[in-house]
Amino acid sequence: MKEMKSFRAGRIRSLACRFMLTVMLAMAAFPMLTGCAGAAAVGRDKYPMSRDLYLLDTFCQLTVYEGGGKAALDTAADALGRYDALFDYNNESSDIYRINHRTGDRVEIDADTAALLQLSEEICGISEGAFEPAIRPVTWLWDFKEEKKVPDADALEKALSQVVHGAWHVESEDADDPSSEDGKWYFVAEDPRVLIDVGAVAKGFVADRLRDVMLAQDVSSAIINLGGNVLCIGRKPDGSPFKIAIRDPRTESGYEEVLEIEDCSAVTAGIYERYFEQDGIVYHHILDPESGMPVQNGLLSVTVTGPSSGVCDALCTAIFVKGESEGKALLESYNDTEESDYRVYFIRRDDHDK
Ligand code: ADP
Ligand code: MG
Repeated sequence: MKEMKSFRAGRIRSLACRFMLTVMLAMAAFPMLTGCAGAAAVGRDKYPMSRDLYLLDTFCQLTVYEGGGKAALDTAADALGRYDALFDYNNESSDIYRINHRTGDRVEIDADTAALLQLSEEICGISEGAFEPAIRPVTWLWDFKEEKKVPDADALEKALSQVVHGAWHVESEDADDPSSEDGKWYFVAEDPRVLIDVGAVAKGFVADRLRDVMLAQDVSSAIINLGGNVLCIGRKPDGSPFKIAIRDPRTESGYEEVLEIEDCSAVTAGIYERYFEQDGIVYHHILDPESGMPVQNGLLSVTVTGPSSGVCDALCTAIFVKGESEGKALLESYNDTEESDYRVYFIRRDDHDK
């Protein structure tokens, strides 16, 4: 087992806020507190309007600043409930539960689950398994909420042997048009050991879908915040970009850079939220698929910004696992291939070199 360094857990804990958001809304929240300069009342809809929900195992906040009104907020909240029911590991009727408790090698799944799994497969492939959706046998052993102790070494070794890379895929019944969302979709396991974990991609994926729902309802300015996965639609009603601050557990303020974004997502993979301390060592929830242990490379967080929140979410975990230089190379090659402009921001331990 690797020797792991403690990183001033006490200070970090004292900075933790109730909502434990990785990326905190800074200026974006300001209009909500003071009354938004550009807020307007359309009919009986008063802006900004907001909905708080606990779904996807986290605090979620949907805020509409302009367009769509209450109906759009209701539709988005309903959609969020539907995605939670599809992806919740503990819900016996969810697709992920049915995949992980299957008796055969094929499980019929919803087209949305198929899209989530295809994105997971893609980022797994380009990150050479740093982002590993088949890591579930190992993540299942780590309990950062209740038990909070390092798993037994034998159990961990056995679980690691069950993390089989690339031994599953999704397929459509409609062979002529595999991208058709109308036909039936299946998860297919080529190895009976495969169990799926979507914890590092689902929130981002859902944020993208909620954006689509809101856009279809004429929302022109909004923030979707799913436990720190932030996606904004448009700009603030006064025409200025949304501002979000990246949390920095090393500073007194608790924040580092303030990013200005519009029509963009920002997602952080950080190790100062889900963790526990045992024998003076901090164990956190981003795991190295090779060792089954928390990644220890001096990074405290990786934030990725870009158009797709699902891509940001999966990439920030992949980049975290790869470390700073390989992670940057991964992002550059993704941008080259996709002709995109995803950006990455690192926060590392003060006592750790690049
Ligand atoms: P959060 O859930 O706080 O947003 P992340 O997006 O970084 O955090 O995802 C961490 C979650 O992803 C873990 O709780 C676990 O379920 C899963 N996970 C951990 N390590 C990996 C990995 N190497 N590849 C894919 N998923 C992972
Ligand atoms: Mg995440």
